[in-house]
Amino acid sequence: MDQTLMTRVLVPTLLDDSTRPLLGAQVRSLDGQTMGTTWQVRWTVQASVASVERVHAAVQAELDLVVDQMSTWLPGSDLDRFNHAPADTDHTVPPAMGEVLQAACWLSHESGGAFNPAAGALVNLWGFGPGPRYTDPGFTAPSDDAVQRALARNDWRALRWDGANRRLHQPGGLLLDLSAIAKGYAVDRVSRRLSAMGLVHTLVEVGGELRGQGLRPDGQPWWIELESPPVAHGQRPLPTTRVALHGLSVATSGDYRRAFTHGGVRWPHTIDPRQGRPLANGLASVSVLHAECLWADAWSTALTVLGREEGMALAEAHGIAALFVQREPDGQLSETLTPAMQALDA
Ligand code: ADP
Ligand code: MG
Repeated sequence: MDQTLMTRVLVPTLLDDSTRPLLGAQVRSLDGQTMGTTWQVRWTVQASVASVERVHAAVQAELDLVVDQMSTWLPGSDLDRFNHAPADTDHTVPPAMGEVLQAACWLSHESGGAFNPAAGALVNLWGFGPGPRYTDPGFTAPSDDAVQRALARNDWRALRWDGANRRLHQPGGLLLDLSAIAKGYAVDRVSRRLSAMGLVHTLVEVGGELRGQGLRPDGQPWWIELESPPVAHGQRPLPTTRVALHGLSVATSGDYRRAFTHGGVRWPHTIDPRQGRPLANGLASVSVLHAECLWADAWSTALTVLGREEGMALAEAHGIAALFVQREPDGQLSETLTPAMQALDA
């Protein structure tokens, strides 16, 4: 890209020419709250298909299904019941949770445990789960002992995930946390459900993770701008990146969104499960583009934990389109794009 250009434009290499825009049609939109965040759906109205009420009910049903199975916050969710199950017990999980676990365990393996669905004890300890929150008055960083105890409970291999039978093992005190992947999965479910209803031109968002398909009524794809860290005084701004979400999803993990400051140190809400501590690798954000939002979401968390060097290498090995924003020692922000991301640069 021309460094003097302040806008980068990314478009998918595969254009779906089976979908024709509904030129001049109206765009409808619905929004609400779920998973401790907000959701929004936009779609191009087709006279023949689906009233607003039917769309709303369908979206709500998909979001509720994900929450009912995978919420760490909802007492009685399948995940919550697993987390409270007695030691040395085996459990069958419902199909949707199984899909997410399959992906989560695969990525844990590939990332050497940087992504870890069994990091719930650590997440809670650092105040990012249910229980004492980092925002509570008087909350302080946990002791080394407490970190060691939580580390002893976060081995995802102890889950003995059996994908064929959707069986999961509770070794005792292991706390599942699927929050780094469930929002993306929910986006995919909503997107697929709307397609099945005949709505092919849609933009779906849950908590900043997005999936777009088809085209807007003006013939344009659904354009979005990548989230980027706020630019501090004296920092040179980075280019704006615009993406055509045409059969494409995007997720961004960032250290600037939810974090607490302790002793002058900023602790982001993503944990390095190998160290038992919030990240401190200087990455400001990682954005990932992928056909499926589940993968965009999970990869953005995994690559954030791995950091720029290791993260770039793993993303490249898997052909993942990712953009890393690093806080350099001189205080400036710098960007690095994987080859798959560069290939989308129009
Ligand atoms: P971001 O929006 O920054 O990508 P996500 O919402 O995708 O973050 O995921 C962050 C959440 O995932 C945390 O609040 C925590 O519940 C969980 N989590 C934290 N660290 C990890 C990790 N290393 N692997 C998997 N899940 C994690
Ligand atoms: Mg994530």
